[in-house]
Amino acid sequence: MLEQIETGDFVDVASGPSVAKLGLGKGAAAAAEKESWDRVRRRLRAELGEDVFSSWFARVEICAVVEGVAHLTVPTRFLKSWLEAHYAERLRAHCTAELDAPHGVSLSVRQVARDGAEPRPESPAQRPRITDARAPAAVNVEAAPAAAMPPASEHDVMDACGTVLDRRMSFQSFVVGKSNALAFAAAERIAAAPAGSAPYNPLYIHAGVGLGKTHLIQAIAQDARQHGKRVAYFTADRFMYGFVAALKSQTALAFKEKLRGIDLLIVDDVQFIQGRSIQQEFGHTINALIDAGKQIVVAADRLPGDLETMEERIRSRLAGGLAVEIGELDEGLRVKILGSRLEALQAAHPTFQVNPDVTTYVARAVATNGRDLDGAANRILAHATLTGATVTMETAEAAIRDLVRTREPRRVKIEEIQKLVATRYNVSRADILSERRTAAVVKPRQIAMYLAKALTPRSLPEIGRRFGGRDHTTVLHAVRKIEKAIGEDRLLHDEVDLLKRMLQE
Ligand code: ADP
Ligand code: MG
Repeated sequence: MLEQIETGDFVDVASGPSVAKLGLGKGAAAAAEKESWDRVRRRLRAELGEDVFSSWFARVEICAVVEGVAHLTVPTRFLKSWLEAHYAERLRAHCTAELDAPHGVSLSVRQVARDGAEPRPESPAQRPRITDARAPAAVNVEAAPAAAMPPASEHDVMDACGTVLDRRMSFQSFVVGKSNALAFAAAERIAAAPAGSAPYNPLYIHAGVGLGKTHLIQAIAQDARQHGKRVAYFTADRFMYGFVAALKSQTALAFKEKLRGIDLLIVDDVQFIQGRSIQQEFGHTINALIDAGKQIVVAADRLPGDLETMEERIRSRLAGGLAVEIGELDEGLRVKILGSRLEALQAAHPTFQVNPDVTTYVARAVATNGRDLDGAANRILAHATLTGATVTMETAEAAIRDLVRTREPRRVKIEEIQKLVATRYNVSRADILSERRTAAVVKPRQIAMYLAKALTPRSLPEIGRRFGGRDHTTVLHAVRKIEKAIGEDRLLHDEVDLLKRMLQE
């Protein structure tokens, strides 16, 4: 039921079963497990294909193997139900083969703690049951009783459907700069517009990870509420879960009927909405709402046209309003975001002091996204509290070292690759997408395909589609060919390397 979608069986992973019981050093046991778990992942990927694997297994993590049971965690309750319903046997088989887990698998929803907050304590009712996966627990689509509802913290407020919003993600705390000014302006306008008027419908916000999509759309939800509007906020997972729950309890009305009374529907991470019937329901819902003059806001990690697994009609409906991108955070923006994070931490820890030079240094070093800036702030605080030392350039540097090392390269778009490669080889992008097979076109096309595979997370079939509807075997052939050529031809190697760097800068 919609009102109860939020009631998840949150599990405190940190206080879960201890690996110490295995009699191994924690580090060694964890490393061995991680390796075996990687093998399980490889098996699943090989067996199910990249698309299925990345949809359902990419976010499964191993917590520990205890007394022959592999404890796995997933980010959402929906994913847990889905895996239990569809992949329990397969997971069990591979875990039994690769991990020391003859008694099966236990799946639980992992707690996400923000800003170093303590995870919610585990109540007996929420403790993970160590089930024998040979008889997987029935998928519980009926919501848990209200008592299991996680207590709303001081940071939380609820939308019209009971989804918890994070009060800290407000317009006031959103730092505006060149890369997000347009998205911010559109967001404010929508939140303040009178109910029944929908300025840009839908508003489609897209950006790479950690650039503020969720923050901005949560701010819309909260501000719109303050303007007296009825708001429904969903993540893709929750939307899907709500849909599946509605289906199972047959008497339930379709989503669009349930949402009839709202003024504003917000869906985060729409790229994760999977499955034909769920997408159809999603399509019906947005159509009905748009036709009734209700505002829709969605966020995604890519352009509407790039939602490869989404039905074409829905894609074009999503593209029919205003699509705005949030760009990379420039240095000035990062300094301000980090500054405000540190300020918030200082409010709670009065002895914690960071001077502005250190803030600037850290914001310069952590060039990726807001999520990593949050991480940096938390690490610096942890460092300062543990060592009791004042924060210097050196301690800050040590605290954020791992963040800087693992920073992700810029998000590269296939279209950018095609354009750059076309310019470099004096052909047009249309040539690259065309059927032509002259050498002058074939080589740049293959290089572009190779770069698309190397620099984007897209699968081979997706890349094929983006290169004029080619088959994935064609892409694979191109990737292999260029890989080989690069190994043999120094000049080509340097050239492709330069293209890579240009795209990633
Ligand atoms: P996304 O949903 O795009 O992956 P989030 O909205 O979760 O990113 O942002 C990641 C973190 O960075 C959050 O803590 C968010 O508050 C912070 N953040 C991102 N952009 C800004 C901004 N412009 N101002 C303040 N905080 C920001
Ligand atoms: Mg997000």
